[in-house]
Amino acid sequence: MNLARFPRIRLGHLPTPLEPMEHLSRRLADAHGKGPKIWMKRDDCTGLSTGGNKTRKLEFLMADAEAKGADTVITQGATQSNHARQTAAAAAKLGLACHLLLEDRTGRRDAAYTQSANVLLDRLHGAVIDHRPGGADMQAEMEILAEKLRAEGRRPYVIPGGGSNAVGALGYVYAAQELLGQAMELGLRIDHVVHATGSAGTQAGLVAGLVAMNSGVSVLGIGVSSPRVTQEAKVLELAQDTAKYLDLPGIIRPHHVLANCDYIGQGYGIPTEGMVEAVRLVAECEGILLDPVYSGKAMAGLIDLIRKGHFAADSNIVFLHTGGAVGLFGYPEALASD
Ligand SMILES: *Cc1c(COP(=O)(O)O)cnc(C)c1O
Repeated sequence: MNLARFPRIRLGHLPTPLEPMEHLSRRLADAHGKGPKIWMKRDDCTGLSTGGNKTRKLEFLMADAEAKGADTVITQGATQSNHARQTAAAAAKLGLACHLLLEDRTGRRDAAYTQSANVLLDRLHGAVIDHRPGGADMQAEMEILAEKLRAEGRRPYVIPGGGSNAVGALGYVYAAQELLGQAMELGLRIDHVVHATGSAGTQAGLVAGLVAMNSGVSVLGIGVSSPRVTQEAKVLELAQDTAKYLDLPGIIRPHHVLANCDYIGQGYGIPTEGMVEAVRLVAECEGILLDPVYSGKAMAGLIDLIRKGHFAADSNIVFLHTGGAVGLFGYPEALASD
């Protein structure tokens, strides 16, 4: 695969580290001290405005925006969207205007959630923020805004929620290449990659890249919003689009796409006990911050699946840390210990 064919603007600190989680692996081992070895791919360290997985997608999306002569980017997400924050930062760096449409997906009204954390950073990066009620057709709302800006003489570029289309997913095809290169250097046979899946671009790009390279690595997305059937269909469609965009149509089959959506709890952005336990455990035994909406729930899933013996004891699991720790400041009640 030759990703250099696609325009890309460097925004992230890449490659991100691939680190062994020795304490965490030991804490999750069985009574005989046996259990999978956990590694972490530190995409929380991409650097852009505290980093996260959207940075890799934005390297390709912002290059496409510039190639198309845009002077403004529009995107959307939940109030505490990490994607909105990283898009605002990328736009600031490139001198583009940025409009964010934030959807109220949790119904929360407190200042920590509505003003602090990602929202605070969106504002610092100079983004124009507008709000929409939960359940709004956010893609349609963005198109309406784009039309209005065009009428004012602007040249807007619309980035879908989460940066999840074939262009954005190239960022995770690239991540798949990066990861396999690191595994080769370490002499590490990766059996599984586990990560949080939402708008699907991360998993779609990883799957497209790992299948294209005939890696034999399986990817398990832990869902944070939709039921499994919906989530797997969304990932499959985008992985197939991405493969087509890479000139490799037909390589992605339904069995390549696996999601587990048993760890969502009451809904997107609503804390669960497992999330709180996961955030605390990883903070305490590895000194690493997960987030309450995505990586915390994904780690809660990984912990539970390891405890249930889902993974072979001699397997190597890479947890892709997709970032989001800024969001912790939007959840003080759920996470503060007494
Ligand atoms: C957006 C996001 C995800 C999910 O990635 P998708 O590509 O939208 O599936 C996971 N973790 C964090 C921290 C995110 O911000």
